[in-house]
Amino acid sequence: MPAAKKVIIVGGVAGGASVAARARRLSEDAHIIVVERGSFVSYANCGLPFHISGEIPERESLLVQTPQGLRNRFNLDVRTESEALRIDRVNKVLTVKNLVTGETYDETYDDLVLAPGAQAVSFPIPGIDRAGHFTLRAIPDMDKIIAWNVAVQPRHATVVGAGYVGLEVAEQLTHLGMSVTVIEARPQVLPVIDEDMAFWAQRQLEDQGVDVRLETMVTSFEEPADGERAAASVVVCNDGERIASDLVVLSMGVKPEVTLAVEAGLEIGEFGGIRVNQHMRTSDEHVWAVGDAIEVRNPITREWSFVALAGPANRQGRVAADNIMGRPATYRGTYGTSIVRVFDLTVASTGLTEHALMRGGIAYEAVHVHPLSHVGYYPGAEILDMKLLFSVGDGTIYGAQVVGKESAARRLDVLATAIQAGMTVDDVAQLELCYAPAYGAPKDPVNLLAMAARNVVNGDVKIAQWHDLDRLDDGTVVLDVRSEEEHTASSIPGSLHIPLDELRGRLGELDRSQPIVVHCFSGQRSYFAYRMLALNGFDVRNLTGGIRSWQAAHPDRERHEPGADHVSALAK
Ligand code: FAD
Repeated sequence: MPAAKKVIIVGGVAGGASVAARARRLSEDAHIIVVERGSFVSYANCGLPFHISGEIPERESLLVQTPQGLRNRFNLDVRTESEALRIDRVNKVLTVKNLVTGETYDETYDDLVLAPGAQAVSFPIPGIDRAGHFTLRAIPDMDKIIAWNVAVQPRHATVVGAGYVGLEVAEQLTHLGMSVTVIEARPQVLPVIDEDMAFWAQRQLEDQGVDVRLETMVTSFEEPADGERAAASVVVCNDGERIASDLVVLSMGVKPEVTLAVEAGLEIGEFGGIRVNQHMRTSDEHVWAVGDAIEVRNPITREWSFVALAGPANRQGRVAADNIMGRPATYRGTYGTSIVRVFDLTVASTGLTEHALMRGGIAYEAVHVHPLSHVGYYPGAEILDMKLLFSVGDGTIYGAQVVGKESAARRLDVLATAIQAGMTVDDVAQLELCYAPAYGAPKDPVNLLAMAARNVVNGDVKIAQWHDLDRLDDGTVVLDVRSEEEHTASSIPGSLHIPLDELRGRLGELDRSQPIVVHCFSGQRSYFAYRMLALNGFDVRNLTGGIRSWQAAHPDRERHEPGADHVSALAK
């Protein structure tokens, strides 16, 4: 009988704990050692922001498993407060330091799994290490923020970085009664989605009183000057602004934790993560790696990327364990399907963004729709802002983003599944999805989004994007076909107004030699106008997403609410 396998796993949280638990389910006699630097294993780091305000009331509920629980249930040799220091790949030995006793010892392995996660990105900004400055990666970080809040009772907090975690923290601090400033170097919040969709998250933050500063860099954190009250520091920005802050949360992104891997000479990729093959094997056949420490292939472009998400880390852990235990398994890559709640707004995305498509040199088209989450006549319907990125050539779907207050996650998950199943816009337009008035519409918002794209693929419509309106030829007419009430309330400057129901009778008012961009609130009624105009020989394009998408990116940021006509068009 072959000797039992000895597997050492470095890192005992999302990816590492998944490897360990799966490995035990496949082998009763393997010696499975989990080496974890911190005091906690298998805890819910995704839940950390929500305990800061007490939205998750019990700290213990974040501790999904304890070291003793893992020992009891899975017979794992869990060594917390133990840091993996060195890998001797030739002799297959890991050097470990017991952080409590200071003792260092060697442990041999048959297979070694690296699941050390990521580390917070930091910059050499003067004063960055001042008291009252925190990052949020693990339970002790959360504990320190809570202790600071209790001791100092902050009135103003500054969050540096407007990624997912930064925005979650900003929300929680707002719930605690603090006024909050979010500083972001880039021109948008949530850099992993497109600018025109991120706008909705920004507006939501501003509506909730968060002070959002984009294209702003912190140049230093300073001691408060005379007359300035700041328990933590005065955050000095490149525009000269000084923001007195009682609490500073640094959330400037993460990078793969690869110290061990680099020192061991394992292959590292261009994004700084450990390179693995589709079986999660590194450049050493006895060393595997999973989670935030690795680079992953994007299944659409086949390019390498760095995606720090819990779902992929868990699935990769399972694949690694299967392969280690002799059950061949393949990881299919990471699409980057993600979601964040910004107060009561859900922001979700999957696949490639416009930025990624451009970087990859992939020709694409984008459509936007803004349907209601369920039929308008049933109470509680909310607008969904939806965007689809696809190939005009064959209808392949590259990416989708959905923002809304109701059922955005459900819609995004359908689209994520469709992309992963290789469905085209035509397939998704024809998807049979559930419907009753409280939940959706006979043409589900997902169907509508795909239909809008299918119309482009079929050549039934030529579209214009919101940014096209900023560089129109002089002769182009912007035609608003919304109701009188909607047009009067707000309009695109210089637009001509002919309500849809009057358009057929007033075609004579339009000049066939002038190009037309037709729009309504969301692009749906203007599609009817587009067909009428195109069939009557006009050179016309439909503004995809209508005035609502134009608003999402236009500097004046004027509000355009849906008119009754828009709601009734969606009510059936
Ligand atoms: P981790 O879970 O970070 O675990 C790595 C462990 O390795 C750490 O405990 C570390 O102490 C240990 N370690 C590192 N080096 C050594 C060493 N040399 N020796 C011993 N131990 C070592 N993802 C989502 O999908 N959705 C979310 O909502 C979400 N929210 C998040 C909120 C927060 C505040 C944070 C911090 C992350 C969030 N994430 C979210 C990301 C998600 O938590 C990570 O993608 C996931 O935990 C990665 O798993 P991992 O096993 O690679 O790393």
